[in-house]
Amino acid sequence: MRQYLVVFVSFLFSIQIVFAQAPKKGTSAEIYHSVQKLNFLGKALYVAAHPDDENTRLISYLSNNVKAKTAYLSLTRGDGGQNLIGPELRELLGVLRTQELLAARRVDGGQQFFSRANDFGYSKHPDETLKIWNKEEVLGDVVQIIRTFKPDVIINRFDHRSPGSTHGHHTSSAMLSFEAFDLVNDPNAYPSQLAATEIWQPKRLFFNTSWWFYGSREKFEKADKSKLMNMDVGVFYPTLGVSNNEIASWASSQHLCQGFGRITSRGSENEYIEFLKGDFPKDKSNIFDGINTTWSRVVGGEAIGTILTKVEADFDFTNPVKHLPQLLEAHKFISSLSDVHWKTIKLVEIEAIIQSVAGLYLEASADAAIANPGNAVKLNLDVLNRSDARITLKSIGISDVDEGLEPLTILENNKKNNFELNLDIPKETNFTSPYWLNEKGSLGMYKVTDKSLIGKPETPRAFQANFVLDFDGYEITFQKPVVYKYARNDKGELYQPFEVLPEATARFDDKVVIFADGKPKQIAITVKAHKDNIKGDVQFCYSKGWTVDQEIKPFEIAKKGDEQILQFTLTPPTNEDESYIAPIIKIDGNQITKELVTIAYDHIPTQSVLLPAEAKVVRLNIQRLGENIGYIMGAGDDVPTSLRQIGYNVVTVDPNSIQAGSLDKFDAVVVGIRGYNVVKELQFKQRFILDYVKDGGNLIVQYNTAGRWDKQFNNIAPYELKLSRDRVTDENSSVKIVAKDHALVNFPNPINEKDFEGWVQERGLYFPNEWSDEFSPILSMKDNGESAKKGSLLVAPYGKGNYIYTGLSFFRELPAGVSGAYKLFANMLSIGKENVEKKPAVKG
Ligand SMILES: [Zn+2]
Repeated sequence: MRQYLVVFVSFLFSIQIVFAQAPKKGTSAEIYHSVQKLNFLGKALYVAAHPDDENTRLISYLSNNVKAKTAYLSLTRGDGGQNLIGPELRELLGVLRTQELLAARRVDGGQQFFSRANDFGYSKHPDETLKIWNKEEVLGDVVQIIRTFKPDVIINRFDHRSPGSTHGHHTSSAMLSFEAFDLVNDPNAYPSQLAATEIWQPKRLFFNTSWWFYGSREKFEKADKSKLMNMDVGVFYPTLGVSNNEIASWASSQHLCQGFGRITSRGSENEYIEFLKGDFPKDKSNIFDGINTTWSRVVGGEAIGTILTKVEADFDFTNPVKHLPQLLEAHKFISSLSDVHWKTIKLVEIEAIIQSVAGLYLEASADAAIANPGNAVKLNLDVLNRSDARITLKSIGISDVDEGLEPLTILENNKKNNFELNLDIPKETNFTSPYWLNEKGSLGMYKVTDKSLIGKPETPRAFQANFVLDFDGYEITFQKPVVYKYARNDKGELYQPFEVLPEATARFDDKVVIFADGKPKQIAITVKAHKDNIKGDVQFCYSKGWTVDQEIKPFEIAKKGDEQILQFTLTPPTNEDESYIAPIIKIDGNQITKELVTIAYDHIPTQSVLLPAEAKVVRLNIQRLGENIGYIMGAGDDVPTSLRQIGYNVVTVDPNSIQAGSLDKFDAVVVGIRGYNVVKELQFKQRFILDYVKDGGNLIVQYNTAGRWDKQFNNIAPYELKLSRDRVTDENSSVKIVAKDHALVNFPNPINEKDFEGWVQERGLYFPNEWSDEFSPILSMKDNGESAKKGSLLVAPYGKGNYIYTGLSFFRELPAGVSGAYKLFANMLSIGKENVEKKPAVKG
C-alpha cells in the first residue's frame, strides 16, 4: 500500500494549508507572502465542470499575485473519466480526482468547492446535461456556494453562448454560473438557503477566453478587445524564487490519473478574460476595480489595517517572531469584528501566521489509523514553541467530546512537551468516508441529506484537537485535525487521515459474477476486522430464482486488520437473469452492509471509502471458442477479470517479453484500453504482434485516443486506419448491425439489437473515421441529431488471422455485467475458429 508523501512543492504555501497533514512551518518569505494575503480582502471564484478544467495559471495568479482569496468550483468530481494510474473508476475515480484537485490547490493556494452534480460521462449538448443533472438542484448549489464564499468576481472557464461546441458539462457550468450571478442577491431565489447564509451580489462576471475560442491566433489578433482584460500570468515572485506559471504547472501536474504530469512552463504569458456582466471596471488592469480590498472594507477594520500594513512594510525576514506582538494585537481586533464572514476567514489566516512566526509545532496523532464508534484510541499530543515568545499551554481539548487536559505548562524555547490522552469515540460518531457516497444517488446527482455539507470538498474530520495557548495574557485556540503518523523504512515519515470506520466490512472479490451455464459457483465473502476480537454472522442476501447452500454463516476474527473468507455456494436459475447479491454483517445486534475500499497513491492522502457491499450476478447463455488469451495491459481495465468469468484462461503479457513467436500460444491477444497511448514499448513490438496475426492469430485492439499520439508510431493496424474523436455517448442510442452475415455477429453467439440494451455510460469513443477497404464495419450507431458512425467495430483479415479494432466501451460494459457485451466479446475472441468445435463458456 502506497502512502501519502508530503510533496515537495507543498512547502511553498504550507502555512495556508487547512487540510495539510504534516505540520510544516513556513519560511520567512512564505510568512511574508501570507501577511500580504492577510492584508487583501477580495475574493475570486473560478467556475468549470471537471477536475482539470481549471486554469491553474489564473488561479495561482489571483491567489499569489493579486493575493485574492481564490476558489475553484468544479461542478463535478470527474467520476465519468478514465484512470491512467490505477483501477479506480466511477465513484472511486471521483474520490481520487477530488483529492487531486485538493493537491493542486495546496500548490496554487486556492480553495476547492464541488456541487452535487455527478459526472455521468460525456454529453455533447448542455440540453442533455441539464436533463440528466437536476438543473434546479445544481443551480441551487452554485447559488449556495456563491452566497457562502461571497466572491467579488466570478470567472467562467467556458463560454455560456456556445452550446454544442464542447462537452455539455462545460457549457452547462458557464450557463449555470451566468444564471446564478443574478439569483444570489434575490431573497426569493432558494430562500431556504438563507437560514444558513445571506444574499450576496458579486461585482462582475467574466469568461476566461483565449485565441482558441476565436478559431485562430490571427482572428484573435484582429478581434475587438474592448471588453477584454489581460494579465501576465508568467510573472516571477522573487521572494518565493518561482514564477507564477511554474506554480501553475506544478498544480496541474497533480492531475496524475488524467495523465497531466507535464513540463513546467516559464516566461511571460498572457491570459485574457472577457467582461460578461456586472460593473464594467474603469481600470482595465484591475479585476477588483471599484471594490475595496483593504481592511477598511469591514467595520472596525481600519485599526487592523494600520497594524498589519506596518508588519508588511517593516517585515523582518531574519527574525519574523519580532512581529508577534503586532500580530497578537491584530488578532484581538479581528476577534471582535462584527462581520462574522471576514472574521472567520481572517482568524484562520492570522493564526497560521502566528504559529509560523513562533515556530509553534502543535500536533495530535492517534496511535491507530482506524477507530470505531464506541471504542477508545490513544492520542499523542506534541506541543513545541521554537521562539523566545512567552507562551503558556493552558489546555488541550478535543472538539465535541469531553476529554481534555489542563497541563498549564510554560513553553520554553525549543523544549519538547508531550502528552497523552485517551479518546473515547462516541457511539454516534459519523464515519469519515466521503459524504457524497453515503446514500444512493441518481445517474446525474449525488444525494446529500445534510445541506450544510453541500459545496465541501471532503467530509469534515471527526476530531479536532484544540490547543489553548496563552501569549502573555492573551489566549488563542489553535485547532488541528487528529492525524495518524508512522514511519516506513523505505519512505520515511508518513501521515494519513485518522479514520472512523465500522468494526467490520465485507466484500465480494468480483463485483459481477457471470454464470455462463446452470452450474453453481462458489462465492467468497471476505470479512475484514477493523477492531480486535470480533465475532458475528454474515447473512447472504439474494434474489428469487437463485439458491444458496446456507444463508447465514458465523465468523470470528482475533486481530484488527485481519480477514476471514466465508464461502457460499450460489446456484443460478435456469433462464437468463440479472440480479444482485449482498452480505449483511451482524455483530451484537448491529448490521453492517458496507465494504471498505482504500485508495492509496503518493500524491494524495490515503482515502478510505465505504460503499454498499453488493455484487451483480448474471445468468447468461453464452458460447465461446478458444481457451488461452494473452492480454497486454494499457492504461488499466478490468476486462481480463471479466473474460476469466466466462471461462477463458487469461494471461497478462509483459510488453517487454514480446518477441517473434512468443504470442503464438494464444488463441487471441487483446490490447487493453489506450495500450498504444501509454505503453511505449509497443512501438517496438508491433511488428511481432502483427506477425502473430499474419500467422493465424486473432488480435483485438481496444480504444486509443487520437490526440496524445506518439507521432513516430503509425502502424497500429496492418492497414490504414485513422482514429478520430467520434464517439456515441448515449448508452441507449439505437445500434444497427450493418454486416448481418459476418461471423462477428453470428458465431458462436447470434447477436441482435437486443444485445445492445442495458449498456452503461456510453456506446464507445475515439472511433476510427477512415479505414482501408480491407476492414469491414460491423455496426452503425449515432447520437441524437448526428450522422451515423460506422467505426465502432472494424475487422480485417490479415494473413491467416484477423485484426479487430473496437472503440466500443467493453471496459465499462463487461465489469458492469452487460450480457450483450459479453456475447459480442466472446464472438471477437472466437473469430476464425468457425470450424473448431464449440464449447460452452465454462468448463464443467
Ligand atoms: Zn472538462
